[in-house]
Amino acid sequence: MTETNAENRDEKGQYDAVVVGGGFFGCHLALELRRRSCRVLLVEQDTDLMLRASYVNQARVHNGYHYPRHFLTALRSRVNFPRFVDDFEGCIVKDFDKYYAIGRRFSKTTARQFRAFVERFGAPIARASDDIRNLFNPVMIEDVFRVKEYAFDALRLKQIMRGRLEQEGVEILLRHRAEMLHREGAQLALTLSGGQGRTDIQARRIFNCTYANLNCLLNNSNLPLLPLKHEITELCLVQLPEQLRDISVTVMCGPFFSFMPFPPLGLSTLSHVRYTPHCHWYDQPGDYISPYQHLQNYRRRSSFPAMLRDTQRYLPALADCRYHDSLWEVKTTLPASELDDGRPILFAPDHGVPGLTCVMGGKLDNVYDVAQELQGAI
Ligand SMILES: Cc1cc2nc3c(=O)[nH]c(=O)nc-3n(C[C@H](O)[C@H](O)[C@H](O)COP(=O)(O)OP(=O)(O)OC[C@H]3O[C@@H](n4cnc5c(N)ncnc54)[C@H](O)[C@@H]3O)c2cc1C
Repeated sequence: MTETNAENRDEKGQYDAVVVGGGFFGCHLALELRRRSCRVLLVEQDTDLMLRASYVNQARVHNGYHYPRHFLTALRSRVNFPRFVDDFEGCIVKDFDKYYAIGRRFSKTTARQFRAFVERFGAPIARASDDIRNLFNPVMIEDVFRVKEYAFDALRLKQIMRGRLEQEGVEILLRHRAEMLHREGAQLALTLSGGQGRTDIQARRIFNCTYANLNCLLNNSNLPLLPLKHEITELCLVQLPEQLRDISVTVMCGPFFSFMPFPPLGLSTLSHVRYTPHCHWYDQPGDYISPYQHLQNYRRRSSFPAMLRDTQRYLPALADCRYHDSLWEVKTTLPASELDDGRPILFAPDHGVPGLTCVMGGKLDNVYDVAQELQGAI
């Protein structure tokens, strides 16, 4: 990796673009910027790239099925799916069959509506075989469909991104935190902490790709906060019973659950709409809470027993799954998503100060929407 340090910069420490945050979005954006032949620096506070939300997630490569309440999000996922699978082939995991089951009660969609919705945006769907449907409790589940959805291996994805960043000559500064920024003439000055203390670098443009931490840099810099909702989330890592080992299930559309392969650990994640989020809050000017700090201080008591109790009512074989551990992370969304479950990107150019762009995507394939916005912006 072209790892740089603050001391290796040219005299003025000037960059065409600095990307803050080495998650999947920051890495992808740094590559996009570099391809436009800029001198680009990627700053990451952790010891490595992609250790936060880009690792701690359900690993679903979305193909639209998940968003029956937001057609545009479903359609964008459907369009982005083959592109993502192609671009990141080395991390795509296909060795399981994917099923979407429709809850009989409390579901916001019926089986008929779900099928019609999927057919409308053109994704593959077929009624599951009897063997599979018999796994479910018919009192709780109306119908089950086999669909085309994959998982990604976040560790392999990181390796792919590292290789590309190296090849493209993006400079990477690990273990450095962006603390604050301000305008200095035609440039932006960014204060970094880490290594040997504090240093200032200058850039023509800065991209804030810090996801849950987006408002931290803004708050420290006395810039307006973005409206963000945060949840402390728990994904349970489980070993599935033999019967379920080669499948993945998502129950729609309401207070239900999902299990997906988690390839880096050879286990599955179990998540539940009701029990995965432990608490939530909204960023407020004047009363800003650091999401990472909040997570660090949070007393982690697993909701696995509650998840298991509920999920086995729908799929009795889940009673035999074995709990290993939990992954905890802050999930950040735009408050508008609460109403319609959409996942539009946040792309805020010149936010609070000319040259600063704030970027956030609610799922990995949103990077293509970011790339499109970027094209228009520079
Ligand atoms: C529980 C959960 C389940 C999810 N499931 C899925 C799914 O199945 N499929 C899907 O596509 N998406 C899913 N998502 C969403 C997906 O994980 C995110 O959209 C994506 O990872 C965001 O990437 P990012 O690069 O913006 O954020 P991150 O990966 O969090 O990267 C932000 C980076 O910024 C760094 N950073 C923060 N502040 C600073 C600073 N001041 N200075 C320097 N560095 C800093 C952090 O250390 C971090 O590395 C899920 C998210 C969660 C939390």
